[in-house]
Amino acid sequence: MVQRFQQYIDGAFEDAKEHFDSIDPSTGEVWAHMPSASADDVDRAVQAAHRAFMDPAWANLNATARGKLLYRLADLVAQHAPRLAELETRDTGKLIRETRAQIGYVAEYYRYYAGIADKMQGAWLPVDKPDMEVTVRREPVGVVAAIVPWNSQLFLSAVKVGPALAAGCTIVLKASEDGPAPLLEFARLVHEAGFPKGVVNVVTGFGNECGRTLTSHPLVSKIAFTGGPETARHVVRNSADNLAAMSLELGGKSPVLVFDDADIESACNAVVAGIFAATGQSCVAGSRLVIQRGIHDAFVAKLVEKAEAIRIGDPQDMATEMGPLATRRQLEHIQKVLKDSVEAGARVATGGSQPSDKTRGYYFQPTIVDCPNTQVPSVTNELFGPVLSVVTFDTEAEAIAIANDTRYGLASGVFTTNLTRAHRLSRALRAGIVWVNTYRVVSPIVPFGGYGLSGLGREGGFDAAMEYTRTKSVWIRTSDEPIVDPFVMR
Ligand code: NAD
Repeated sequence: MVQRFQQYIDGAFEDAKEHFDSIDPSTGEVWAHMPSASADDVDRAVQAAHRAFMDPAWANLNATARGKLLYRLADLVAQHAPRLAELETRDTGKLIRETRAQIGYVAEYYRYYAGIADKMQGAWLPVDKPDMEVTVRREPVGVVAAIVPWNSQLFLSAVKVGPALAAGCTIVLKASEDGPAPLLEFARLVHEAGFPKGVVNVVTGFGNECGRTLTSHPLVSKIAFTGGPETARHVVRNSADNLAAMSLELGGKSPVLVFDDADIESACNAVVAGIFAATGQSCVAGSRLVIQRGIHDAFVAKLVEKAEAIRIGDPQDMATEMGPLATRRQLEHIQKVLKDSVEAGARVATGGSQPSDKTRGYYFQPTIVDCPNTQVPSVTNELFGPVLSVVTFDTEAEAIAIANDTRYGLASGVFTTNLTRAHRLSRALRAGIVWVNTYRVVSPIVPFGGYGLSGLGREGGFDAAMEYTRTKSVWIRTSDEPIVDPFVMR
């Protein structure tokens, strides 16, 4: 039976005037109807968030009490993780074993920001003027517009909702039009946690109407966006209307460098997990393997063997190791870039097409392409799918040059047993994350974000919470002497 979801505005669940179909990527069939927020719905959501921001029920709630609400939300997310995971798997095709593990950990992000709520302090300044007390208050920025892409929506919204609420902001969260079910369900947990009405609003809809209205709304003070660089450019243009503060978490083309002194078995397993987990639909996917020439053939042969052993199938089955892509659009994009790459001289070592027994749904084989240079389209473009592009180097300097030859700069990996080299590379790589002898580990305590086209600002960690505040400098004159008339000459 086709399910129907509702949007959450001003503390109430409601139907939108229009709905759109959500497709199960493992079958290609419609499984749910999602509310399509109109410009008017978005305006009501922002107005509600603005009222809530000014309302003493939220504005005067002390920081410790805000933290307690966030702890309650964290407990509810943990408690409902199986249901949320099931919905995310259904709506996006991400493996149930991945969504269960990830959503279990999402609760930790809310706990981390719950703990931070009453630790965001202002300051007293030893100012160079007589008879003055100067303090710096730290205040919430106001209404936050949070926008997420379709992959890992609960996770990507936790790094926005958590710090925003800890700081005392209110929020309008826009789920992606692809796979919004888990976020619309999350709204029910916000409601149950007991946040005052309007503090959190959850809508979904298309970029052109819903996203544009939200990011250009005059009452929005901060935009926290995750998505692709092209959409980010629209968001930046939209923000010319409200001059909102902004953080942008965008895509990546992350290199994994493997040197001939590396622990080959570990490196190989990390490369496989780095690109084929989440069917490669991860912003930090290690999609470029930069490999030293001497070990190239043996390493690629090992990778091919592991890739061909991956069990592809129903994402709801705990035994499945790789599920479908989330949308037909994704599938077609990958097919096109691969075709162009082969024409540019790339050799397909394994994969390269849909599995012959899985043409229903958006399945694609784990694919490895050996590339003659860094100009091949699969090396330069983010594919957001299970495609690993291999580029070969001879020297350390060459490896660094290849790794940095990208407009992105989100993550990077280095596999070596040489300690001094590990230090040199962690300095030389132009990326927001360098993982040495490991890959794809994250924590709420650690900042996350990129260089170049990968974005602006950081999420995660303490400083990210500060991004949801601004300072107010308060000057208090402490002298009882009258202020002299400035127009009387002395
Ligand atoms: P997308 O950029 O197409 O969409 C992202 C969101 O923006 C969606 O909610 C969409 O509705 C909205 N949007 C579209 N047009 C808009 C507009 N004009 N104004 C405002 N909002 C608008 O991205 P996608 O295809 O859903 O996701 C894939 C991209 O997200 C990839 O590039 C991936 O690397 C990136 N991503 C980045 C991170 C990170 O943390 N760095 C994490 C996950 C995904």
